[in-house]
Amino acid sequence: MTLSLFLASATQRLADAGIPAAEARTEARILVQHALGLTREQLILRSDSPVDGGQGALLEPLLIRRANREPLAYILGERGFYGLSFQVTPAVLIPRPETEHLLEAVLAFSPPPAALPPPAALPPPAALPPPARLGSPPPPASRRGAASPPSPPSQRGTSDQPEGGTEWCEVGGGKKRGALLDIGTGSGCIAVTLAKLLPEVQVWATDISEAALDVARENAVRHGVSVEFRRGDLLAPLPPELCFEVIVSNPPYIAPAEAPTLEPEVRDFEPHTALFDPSLGGDGLTLYRRLAAEAPARLVAGGLLAVEVGQGQAEAVAQLWREAGLAEVAITLDLAGIGRVVSGRKP
Ligand code: GLN
Repeated sequence: MTLSLFLASATQRLADAGIPAAEARTEARILVQHALGLTREQLILRSDSPVDGGQGALLEPLLIRRANREPLAYILGERGFYGLSFQVTPAVLIPRPETEHLLEAVLAFSPPPAALPPPAALPPPAALPPPARLGSPPPPASRRGAASPPSPPSQRGTSDQPEGGTEWCEVGGGKKRGALLDIGTGSGCIAVTLAKLLPEVQVWATDISEAALDVARENAVRHGVSVEFRRGDLLAPLPPELCFEVIVSNPPYIAPAEAPTLEPEVRDFEPHTALFDPSLGGDGLTLYRRLAAEAPARLVAGGLLAVEVGQGQAEAVAQLWREAGLAEVAITLDLAGIGRVVSGRKP
């Protein structure tokens, strides 16, 4: 059999398993490349070359798994997100392109001046870092790898912090200029990408699953960033004095009653803790209600709370944000025109 016939028969196997034709062709090609160690160009150039039984045996187990509707990303062990490749295992949700909109909402955000110290503790103006968008590149010194001048201690000081207040809470643990938290980090795709793009920001990430955090830690190492990972429920595992300029989350938002409508790839393979509203008979909004109740207290004034939402949930979540006292509540549409990101700022 020639390589092109081999590819055609693999495509047919996937189509027969119920995978739509266009995807079957692309995925068969990717699996053949993966099994035989070929680039796309080699696959084309060698289309008339014969395929032997040994090569067939390399592809077969992959084809069986995919025909069984196991997601391609689990078979390959990785998935691209925002231009980076992430390790994925069945312990984590597979990163989705929609989630890139959440990332963009964060990159477009200007951190509030309130993230700086209270007036009495301000260092002389010359020592202040210039105001910058959170997504702006680091100053040249640190980009060249030279050590940045240390922040004056007063900039991170907590001595003026009112008892029990969150107004002047310690921002991000005091290690970097800004602080960001990703709740329910899963593969770590959001936290690690943001840590990579925003080297001046201290990134924290929580997840309830230790197995997911193991994958997220691997991804942080893979991309050479340091993220403070903590295991636990939403904000519970964080030091109580910590506040953030940005809190993001892509929480499990599918109502359990919708499970029968999901593709088998999702329902039968992705972790249910990452997909479904955790409350029995939940409407999909349970974790947004909890985030509205718990997250604003952990934001600095002017800080951003941004979440991904499921189809049809944006208005309800925007309303939760308003009721929680957040301002500038905004809905961002995804490429399909579906309200996908809801954000708001703490006044
Ligand atoms: N934060 C991860 C992602 O966006 C995981 C989200 C989740 O498990 N619900 O892919």
